[in-house]
Amino acid sequence: MSNQTAAPNQGLTDGMHFLADTLIANGVKNMYGVVGIPVTDFARIAQAKGIKYVGMRHEADAGNAAAAEGFLTGRPGVFLTVSAPGFLNGLASLKEATENGWPCIQLAGSSVRHTVDLHEGEYEGLDQRAYAVPFAKDSFRIDRIEDIPLGIERAIRTATTGRPGGVYVDMPDDLMGQTMDEDAAQKILFTAENLNPAQPADQAMVEKALTLLENAKNPMIVVGKGAAYARAEKEVAEFVDKTNIPFQPMSMAKGLIPDDDPHSTASCRGLALRTADVILLIGARLNWMLGYGEGKKYNPDVKFIQIDIDGAEFGNARHIDCPLLGDIKTVMGQLVDGLSSHKIQASQEWIDLLAADTKKNDERFGGAETADTVPMTHQNALGAIKRVLDKNHDVYVTNDGANTLDDCRDIVDMYLPRHRLDCGTWGVMGVAMPYAIAAAVTTGKPVVSISGDSAYGFAPLEVETACRFDLPIVTIVLNNGGIYRGDFEDLGDSGDPSPLTLDACAHYEKVGEAFGATGYFATTPAELEADLTEALASGKPAFINVQLSVHAGVESGHIGDLNPKPVVGPLATSECEDLNEEVVDGKLVQEKPAR
Ligand code: ADP
Ligand code: MG
Repeated sequence: MSNQTAAPNQGLTDGMHFLADTLIANGVKNMYGVVGIPVTDFARIAQAKGIKYVGMRHEADAGNAAAAEGFLTGRPGVFLTVSAPGFLNGLASLKEATENGWPCIQLAGSSVRHTVDLHEGEYEGLDQRAYAVPFAKDSFRIDRIEDIPLGIERAIRTATTGRPGGVYVDMPDDLMGQTMDEDAAQKILFTAENLNPAQPADQAMVEKALTLLENAKNPMIVVGKGAAYARAEKEVAEFVDKTNIPFQPMSMAKGLIPDDDPHSTASCRGLALRTADVILLIGARLNWMLGYGEGKKYNPDVKFIQIDIDGAEFGNARHIDCPLLGDIKTVMGQLVDGLSSHKIQASQEWIDLLAADTKKNDERFGGAETADTVPMTHQNALGAIKRVLDKNHDVYVTNDGANTLDDCRDIVDMYLPRHRLDCGTWGVMGVAMPYAIAAAVTTGKPVVSISGDSAYGFAPLEVETACRFDLPIVTIVLNNGGIYRGDFEDLGDSGDPSPLTLDACAHYEKVGEAFGATGYFATTPAELEADLTEALASGKPAFINVQLSVHAGVESGHIGDLNPKPVVGPLATSECEDLNEEVVDGKLVQEKPAR
C-alpha cells in the first residue's frame, strides 16, 4: 500500500487525489505519460486508485498513445507530462490528435506561477498555457482545487464535442498540494454526460442527397476515418449493400467494410474518382489526401455530398453541393431510411468498368506480393505479412514509414473497423509503436506494428514499454537502410552517408531482445511468414527485423508529387521524375525496377 493512502487524511483531500477521483468519475481507465516534477505523486496516486498508468519513454509517444485510445474508444485518451520540456514534447502529439480529429487530453504539471510570470528563472519555467493555445483545440488552466471537476468536464467536452481534438490542461504545481474538505469535494464531483448525442441532418438536405444519388449514374462513396470514429460500420455497410455503390476506403477507414468486399475500389481508385459523377464523402475531408476534390483526378462535373459533424469543414477547398451536418451514424441511418422512397442503384456499366480495372491492376501488381525475390522488396515482405494477417482478422495493425506505409495500406487487407492506425492526416512518423501500445492496452488484442527502418527510429524504446507491460505486440521493421531507400549517394565528395542513408545491416531485432522480446531476423518471405505466425501465436512481445534490398522503395513513397523538384543539377534527371508515377492509383508502386 502506498504512503499516500496510508496517511491519515483528517477529512481532507488534496489536488492530486481529487484530480484522480475526478478522472475516474469520468470513466478514465488508462493514462499514458512520463513522470517527474511536479506530477510524480499524482501518477502514483492515480495508479493506486485504479487508473492503469502506462509509463512511456517519450512524451510524444505518450500523447500518440492517448490519441490512439481516443480513436479506438471514442472517449478522450489522457496523457501526463512534466513541465516545460516534457510539456513541449507532448504538445506535438496533442496537435497531431487535433489534426486527426481524435479526442485526447494532455495533463501537464507546470512550475510555480508567480515566479514563471515574473521570469524569475524558475526550474522548467514556462507559461505553458500560452504556448498550448495555438496547438490545442482549446486549453485550460486549473488554479484551484475546487475547480478540478469543472476543468476536467470542460476538457472532456471540448475534446469530444463537434470534431474531436486535443485539449490541454495546465496544472500549476501548487494545485497539486491544495486541500479541501473531503465531503465537500465529493459533493462537487460529477460526471460529464451526453457527450455524443445523436445529431441528425436537416431532412431537406437528406432528401437532396438522396435525389442526387438517385439521378447519378456513377455514384461513389469515399469513407474516411470519421466514419470509423463514429462507429457507423453497420449503417455504411447497409447503404452500400442496398445500393451497390462502390466505395473507396481512406487509410484508417479500411476494414469498416471488409477490404475483400466486391464494392471496394481500392484497386481502381484513380479510375473510380475520375469517372464518378456524384461522390458521397462520409467522414473524409477534401484535403491533400483527396487532391482537395479538384483537378484532373476528378470528373469536372462531379457533385459532392458530404457528411460531417463540423459545419466549417464544408467548402474548405471547393463547393459542396449537399452538406449534411450531423453525426455520421445518425445521418447514414437517415440515408438508409430514405432508400424506401428513393431508387438508388449504381449502374451496372460503372460497376463492370471498375471491376475490369480492378482485375487488371490486381494481375499487374499481385505478382510482386508473391514473388520470392531476395533480398526482399516492400511488396513481397508485406505479401508475407498479409498472408498471416488474412488468417488473423482480429489483429490490430499500426503502420508508419513512407513506402512501408503506402505499400502496407495497399497490400495488407483489413476486415474489421478501427483495426488500422497509421501516420494519419499529417503523415507523422514514429506513431506505429505508441499506437500499438494503446491498441494493446485498450483492447487486450494482439497488435502488429509495421515500420520502415527510419520511422521506427522515432520511437524505438517503446518496445521496452511493450515488454515491461508484457503486451502482445509484434514489432516489425522493414529495413532497406534508409529514408525512402538505402542506395542514395552523397552528391558531393564528403564521403559521408547521404542525407537519406541509414544502417542497412542493423540488427533491429536486438533492440527487442534487450528487453526480453523474442527476436527474429527474416531474410525471405517464407521466413517472415513463419516468424510472424509463431510470434502472434506466442501472445508475447516479439520483434522481427526484415531485411530488404537497399534498392527497394521510391523517394517519398506515393506522395512524390508533394516534393519540390530541382530543375538543374544531377537530381533534375529522370531519376527523380519517375518517382511520382500515378500517385492517384493506390496500387501503383515501384515502376522503376530495383537497381
Ligand atoms: P480521412 O483522413 O480518413 O479522409 P479525415 O480525418 O480527413 O478522414 O476526416 C474525418 C472527418 O470526419 C472530419 O472532418 C471530422 O469532422 C468528421 N467526423 C468525425 N467524427 C464524426 C462524427 N461522429 N460524425 C460526423 N463527422 C465526424
Ligand atoms: Mg527505409
